[in-house]
Amino acid sequence: MAKRDFYEILGVARNASEDEIKKAYRKLAMKYHPDRNQGDKAKEAEEKFKEAKEAYEMLSDPQKRAAYDQYGHAGVDPNLRGGPGGPEGFGGFADAFGDIFGDIFGGQRAGRGRQVYRGSDLSYAMEITLEEAANGKDAQIRIPSWEDCDTCHGSGAKPGTSVKTCPTCNGNGVVQMRQGFFSVQQTCPHCHGSGKIIPEPCTTCNGQGKLKKHKTLEIKIPAGIDDGMRIRSAGNGEPGRNGGPAGDLYIEIRIRKHDIFERDGDDLHCQVPVSITTAALGGEIAVPTLQGKATIEIPEGTQHGKTFRLRGRGIKGIRSSYPGDLYCHIVVETPVKLTEHQRKLLRELDESFQRGGHRHSPNDKGWFEKAKAFFS
Ligand SMILES: [Zn+2]
Ligand SMILES: [Zn+2]
Repeated sequence: MAKRDFYEILGVARNASEDEIKKAYRKLAMKYHPDRNQGDKAKEAEEKFKEAKEAYEMLSDPQKRAAYDQYGHAGVDPNLRGGPGGPEGFGGFADAFGDIFGDIFGGQRAGRGRQVYRGSDLSYAMEITLEEAANGKDAQIRIPSWEDCDTCHGSGAKPGTSVKTCPTCNGNGVVQMRQGFFSVQQTCPHCHGSGKIIPEPCTTCNGQGKLKKHKTLEIKIPAGIDDGMRIRSAGNGEPGRNGGPAGDLYIEIRIRKHDIFERDGDDLHCQVPVSITTAALGGEIAVPTLQGKATIEIPEGTQHGKTFRLRGRGIKGIRSSYPGDLYCHIVVETPVKLTEHQRKLLRELDESFQRGGHRHSPNDKGWFEKAKAFFS
């Protein structure tokens, strides 16, 4: 089924403000929330809910929205090439879940009413060479990690003091509000859903209970990966709140420009300079491939721009069964820095060509005829 337009899904204009988008999403999220759609409506509501969530996630992120406006769904699909440049290094993705659902529904409930929030996803840009992309690579990256604070052992309370149950919600993390027909649960405004309050926060971690550190992560980059693809490392994003699951880490691959090869999907292209004498007389020339040297047999009278294909000398993509091909584009080079003797030889050669006429220049005759027709 074709994907619906994100603006259409949320029912907003293409120039809608961030606020309008947020409001439209809140409305849909309320309408399709699983608590209100049980029985035979559940399945359809879940689909609509997911659709609205995706649309909101894309349109609430200015970078993703710009990419979507320009390229449509292809601009924001991580599986397709040509997407927008991701943030350099670390930057949290907008965590629509924590943001919106925290407000309206108080996240997912765990145990006795306590609110848990999933941590934000993180993105990490990694630049690799074309050779590394073709062969795969084991890489190590340094990423932030959060560890329990040594001073308070993770409680967030100053040593000697203790964490207290929130009196507003009696530790439930939510408060009930009547809104006409519905009884709506809201995140407790006092403890922000944790059910606990810390009268004297630990000064080392400011009451967070966790400290940001760094850790080294081993990343397996699969052979055949292409520019713009992302690798997901589950659970290595920011930690969740109140014991919620951590977000994910996305490693976005950038392939450095290669000196010789240009990649087009699984195929590679390269330019091969050839002297006018080799082009005219024919001969063997050595060409580079990712697997080492190869030779091409150049036939007599090879023209500039002619392409030779070396089967299977491209890259085997992640989802491909066979490697692509290498296309060698012949660039015939005009000789420069001639000696007097070489000039003389070329003049003699030219005289000999003049006597032979158009026979020696296969494109010449046709071109002159077209030029003549153009001017008359
Ligand atoms: Zn602490
Ligand atoms: Zn509370």
